[in-house]
Amino acid sequence: MFSSLRGSSVIVTGGTKGIGKGIAGVFASENAGVLLVGRDEDAGRAAAEELSASGGEVSFVRADVSIGRDCDRIAEAATERYGGVDVLCANAGIFPQRPIREMSEEDIDDVIGTNLKGCILLVKACLPALERSGRGRVILTSSITGPITGFPGWSHYGASKAAQLGFMRTAAIELAGSGITVNAILPGNIATEGLGDLGDSYSAAMVASIPMRRLGTAQEIGHAALFLASLEAGYITGQAIIVDGGQILPESLAALEG
Ligand code: NAP
Repeated sequence: MFSSLRGSSVIVTGGTKGIGKGIAGVFASENAGVLLVGRDEDAGRAAAEELSASGGEVSFVRADVSIGRDCDRIAEAATERYGGVDVLCANAGIFPQRPIREMSEEDIDDVIGTNLKGCILLVKACLPALERSGRGRVILTSSITGPITGFPGWSHYGASKAAQLGFMRTAAIELAGSGITVNAILPGNIATEGLGDLGDSYSAAMVASIPMRRLGTAQEIGHAALFLASLEAGYITGQAIIVDGGQILPESLAALEG
């Protein structure tokens, strides 16, 4: 089977809820040291307490990934608490729905600032520690929206998620010599607090378009992240793994009938 991640140091941004919490729970149950990152202190502390029960050592640092000095503090906290950074899961993201006609400059800055700039700032901040690890792993949470599909209201979001893959490909080349891999997971529709905010009718419409006829779970994204973090995945870099229950496959609604 796969080598153990016991004692590894893992950062999960947006680890306080949703997909990030699912990823963090999977690494915690492998007895890794897991640093959760988010802006809401109460939610962060509660998530760390809950996930600690599953085995690993889980703690929280309050930080905003769109701010450079906060990203530096994240890398410092992981190094102080868990001895370095072996795995960086850059997962924090926002997805406010806004048609282009109504989109403000601030809307664009918020989405690009968190989803794209935050991801680049964090990789830069963690780079010295990832290099020291000797087996560093960067795992980005992108999306099917942007790189593969589109949906009205998410043009800025889709652009940010597609741009993450552009960053990934060059980062994978630049960091390969340091033994660091850089890959992305492209989730389809995953049952999270953030998705829940979009309403029941949104989820129902999505389920109807997914061949597996259900939303994904945060743990299913966590398992893909665990594979990419494993020593055995050390020759995979610059790649995107779609985890979507087959959502991108149907050519038309007719493909889903019967
Ligand atoms: P969610 O339930 O809304 O959780 C988002 C997480 O990100 C929270 O922990 C939030 O904590 C954190 N966060 C947001 N902005 C942040 C910032 N500036 N700095 C630090 N932390 C921040 O969202 P989700 O559904 O789990 O989505 C997680 C990631 O998966 C996102 O990148 C999203 O684009 C991607 N994704 C989700 C789906 C889906 O179906 N759910 C599909 C494809 C891709 P605070 O609010 O406390 O900061």
